[in-house]
Amino acid sequence: MKIVALAGGVGGAKLVDGLAKLLPPEDLSIIVNTGDDFDHLGLRICPDLDTVCYTLAGLSNPETGWGRSGDTWNCLAAIRELAGPDWFHLGDGDVGTHLVRTFRLGHGEPLSAIVSSFCVSWGIQVKVLPMTDERVSTQILTQDGNQLDFQEYFVRLLCQPAVKAIIFDGADSAEPAPGVLEAIDLADFIIFCPSNPWVSINPILSIPGIRERVIKKKVVAISPIIGGKTIKGPAAKMYQEFGITPSALAVARHYEGIIEGFIFDITDHDLKVDIERLVKKACATNTIMLDSDSRKKLAQEVLKFCLEL
Ligand code: GDP
Repeated sequence: MKIVALAGGVGGAKLVDGLAKLLPPEDLSIIVNTGDDFDHLGLRICPDLDTVCYTLAGLSNPETGWGRSGDTWNCLAAIRELAGPDWFHLGDGDVGTHLVRTFRLGHGEPLSAIVSSFCVSWGIQVKVLPMTDERVSTQILTQDGNQLDFQEYFVRLLCQPAVKAIIFDGADSAEPAPGVLEAIDLADFIIFCPSNPWVSINPILSIPGIRERVIKKKVVAISPIIGGKTIKGPAAKMYQEFGITPSALAVARHYEGIIEGFIFDITDHDLKVDIERLVKKACATNTIMLDSDSRKKLAQEVLKFCLEL
């Protein structure tokens, strides 16, 4: 059974980690959001790709969900000493990743080739694909009239500004990275991980060609909103700021017309009747992934659900 998973960072990485433990590597391709990518201190940083790769490689920091486990912070301390921009937390090992990536991009290598070579170095066997090799930048338009780069909004301002609109700058003219459309065409099922629908899944679908190919397939989404809240990040707050009550139902509506199946948390069981009006099949189960076992268990349920669709 060939699966393509669309993923952002933390929520996406946990589910794909579970899927990677169950599927033969050639049966899993992960298309990762690159709208969060940005330049910082001359380094090209790809937060979602790194979170997915560190997680698959067993290198991730289980406490934060991002960065590398056991990383040291000497570089950040030196940046601070020199009054440099220290709002983006860069561990020493993580800096190594950004240095090599920036160096190779500077020599003209496409991002997808660099990711693929990092995966070999880290022993990752499944296919990890950036959504595009071109620069697409998620921009947050705030209700008080500012335009912010996503990481400024997310990390520096801790998601505090109220969001008015979200733009994926550069998406209109971007092409899917090599292998993306081919993986979708070959997939039996497409899975939208429990990632932020607004800023992790939407940017992937905004790349011309991806949405059109995805909607031809059987698509299953997993809700990142549980009991009206997120486990982490601004997805629920964004729904609220767009005038939508955040809930698993709101996520199902968000993907209406694209998905056939929807998995949401057992906490929201009372929404099942309403969700079933929007999709062919819905399932309420425990979707909280606290450790490796619960990631695998949810992945198992997702695969079983796909087969029953
Ligand atoms: P980001 O780019 O690092 O913000 O990562 P994602 O977009 O992939 O993930 C953020 C979303 O993951 C948030 O909306 C969280 O609620 C959701 N999330 C995180 N952990 C879990 C989990 O264990 N289960 C579910 N269902 N959602 C989760």
